[in-house]
Amino acid sequence: MGTPEVEVRRSKQRRRTIAARLEGNRVIVMVPSSLSKAQEKLEVERIVKRLLSRTERAKRSTDADLMRRAKQLSDTYLGGLAKPDSVRWVSNQRSRWGSCTPGERTIRLSDRLHDMPRWVVDYVLVHELAHLIESGHTDEFWAWVSNYPHAEKAKGYLEGFSAGARLDAGDDGDAEDDGEDGDDDRG
Ligand SMILES: [Zn+2]
Repeated sequence: MGTPEVEVRRSKQRRRTIAARLEGNRVIVMVPSSLSKAQEKLEVERIVKRLLSRTERAKRSTDADLMRRAKQLSDTYLGGLAKPDSVRWVSNQRSRWGSCTPGERTIRLSDRLHDMPRWVVDYVLVHELAHLIESGHTDEFWAWVSNYPHAEKAKGYLEGFSAGARLDAGDDGDAEDDGEDGDDDRG
């Protein structure tokens, strides 16, 4: 979210408590009119910051959301054949978007994907899920991935993003067990 507009409403009815709520991209803050201007400024800043961080957190999907989404995607595009044991967000994956350990059926997604469009996150999920069916980047693997309609667009998006961020664009997720790197993700 960008910086929202803040509207302060002073109220004689309010005694000590200050309250804030989000209306579209605007934050409405109700303050007791007894507050001094200096106090008001301080209190408004504090409550707006708290409200926004809470809103940001709520928007972010949890590991449980991710697992649910993975199941949906597997059912829709991979014939339900990809059955992960765990799917979770990780913050220590700086050079890869996602990774999969087929032997343990675990999938990890970099939390750098958090703020990306949904269809891009879905692509990385489908990519990693497909590794549960076919661990290498084989023709069969890409055939599964291409069932996802936005696969090519999402690959382009991530490559563009990586190029912009000077990250390695070739590592948008690869299976760890098969010993091969994600190099041929480019092709
Ligand atoms: Zn891969």
